[in-house]
Amino acid sequence: MGHPWDHLSKEEWEAICKRCGKCCLYPLQDEQTGEIYHTNILCRYFDLEKSLCTVYDKRCELVPSCLKLNKDNVDNLPFMPKSCAYRRLFDPTYQDKPTPSIKGRVVREQDVDENNLEDYIVDWEDL
Ligand code: SF4
Ligand code: SF4
Repeated sequence: MGHPWDHLSKEEWEAICKRCGKCCLYPLQDEQTGEIYHTNILCRYFDLEKSLCTVYDKRCELVPSCLKLNKDNVDNLPFMPKSCAYRRLFDPTYQDKPTPSIKGRVVREQDVDENNLEDYIVDWEDL
């Protein structure tokens, strides 16, 4: 069965993204409970000044865990931030409101202490 958003053109689809970069923050998942935690660890390829991915066409090869959102999986991504604009397509609880930039609140992937990943868990209201 198709989705109500299948008719959107490529441009319309891309225009939904508000380039907040929140899907470029690495999530952590508890192996025992499956619970998902958001962190402020930002992918090395996200350009904070331009607010975009610098390797978009190669992102799947370079970052296997990159959230590859498309028309078929958009409503079935457990790691998707609650504020992601694509939620307006299917999530009745989604509220379209401006959210603060991630700039100044994130840590670069390459600067992270990998032995203490829990220290980077955040509970931002706008995630
Ligand atoms: S590679 Fe993926 S996670 Fe990294 S900046 Fe690009 S879109 Fe975001
Ligand atoms: S979280 Fe959603 S709206 Fe924000 S950059 Fe990612 S895909 Fe776009």
